[in-house]
Amino acid sequence: MATVALKGVKKRFGTVDVIHGIDMEIADGEFIVIVGPSGCGKSTLLRMVAGLETISEGEIQINGLRVNEKEPMDRDIAMVFQNYALYPHMSVRQNMAYGLKIARIPKPEIERKVAEAAKLLQLEPYLDRKPRELSGGQRQRVAMGRAIVRQPAVFLFDEPLSNLDAKLRVQMRLEIRELQSKLGITSLYVTHDQVEAMTMANRMIVMNGGVAEQIGTPLEVYERPRTLFAAQFIGSPS
Ligand code: ADP
Ligand code: MG
Repeated sequence: MATVALKGVKKRFGTVDVIHGIDMEIADGEFIVIVGPSGCGKSTLLRMVAGLETISEGEIQINGLRVNEKEPMDRDIAMVFQNYALYPHMSVRQNMAYGLKIARIPKPEIERKVAEAAKLLQLEPYLDRKPRELSGGQRQRVAMGRAIVRQPAVFLFDEPLSNLDAKLRVQMRLEIRELQSKLGITSLYVTHDQVEAMTMANRMIVMNGGVAEQIGTPLEVYERPRTLFAAQFIGSPS
């Protein structure tokens, strides 16, 4: 269970303002897509939620509590990246177990959690393989599995499908959404792909140059774009 709130969140790198003040309340279980062109600040925003970047101004709350000063490990979040970041020398099982081992979870509990995640992700036949022996889609599932076993309150995805071919991307969109609805984990999902945003989001943040041009459901943004940029980017008739 988690709500996330962004309150006047700003990011400055040196003297350059990269995020100009984002306000948003995210409900428990919502799937939020942050969409916009390359360089608009999507990853920076996500990394601030993750605790991988400091917040220059404003506040991020998870379940109503300020997390600005909390380390990533203490934020109850799990992040899935586009390059998977799997350990090549470890098996699928070891990759999924690693974070739990570090957190000193007892071994039987680790085994149970990994087994559950493997079942959910249809990875049971591949548990003893190395990442190089898997397809791109399977590797992506392992990356998801590694996030799921930690039972985070919030999932953060940064362009997780951009290394996959077009057909697999469409399939994985569905899989991620299905899994997310089943588990009910509040999610922030970054992409530069409008179609991905339109098909996956409960609500989306359309970003441009560090500004949230519009926040709304795909239908709202499509039918009533608030700015020219939103209209052009999403491709709605105007
Ligand atoms: P996106 O994910 O939407 O492509 P980013 O969040 O990666 O965009 O980057 C937003 C802007 O911030 C870009 O202009 C980028 O060059 C800049 N930026 C990102 N990280 C840093 C950093 N560590 N130091 C300086 N500038 C950065
Ligand atoms: Mg990025």
